[in-house]
Amino acid sequence: MAIYRGTCHCGGVAVDYETAVPPGETEVRACQCSFCRMHGAQAVSDPGGKLSFAEKVPGALRRYSFALKTADYILCGTCGAYLGAVLSDDAGGGYGIVNILVLDTPELFTQAPQPFVYDAESVAARIDRRRARWTPLAPA
Ligand SMILES: [Zn+2]
Repeated sequence: MAIYRGTCHCGGVAVDYETAVPPGETEVRACQCSFCRMHGAQAVSDPGGKLSFAEKVPGALRRYSFALKTADYILCGTCGAYLGAVLSDDAGGGYGIVNILVLDTPELFTQAPQPFVYDAESVAARIDRRRARWTPLAPA
């Protein structure tokens, strides 16, 4: 397993993404929801990996949810960077994705971002997809 580390712009929130999948073989997803489009987010996940978000400066880590509220989007409240998302507690929690743009080495993820539209999914289908495809969360 390799660990890809990242932080927001100011260093207030950190992320560790651990995976055995080579970054060049990792699917990069450009979710087309209104939030991800605004950030130009490029998400990756590995069901066999581990993901953790850590607050390095007290109060920096902010969670934002909208619409169906099945995910919490992890942001830095100081610098505004978007680091990734986790399944909301109401949806069972425990899984997440990372925005590769906050990693130290985003250039290693060489696949062209593929646009995905999930609008037609039911709430149950959305939660099931995330449990199957997102990365299990590990304690930071
Ligand atoms: Zn920050």
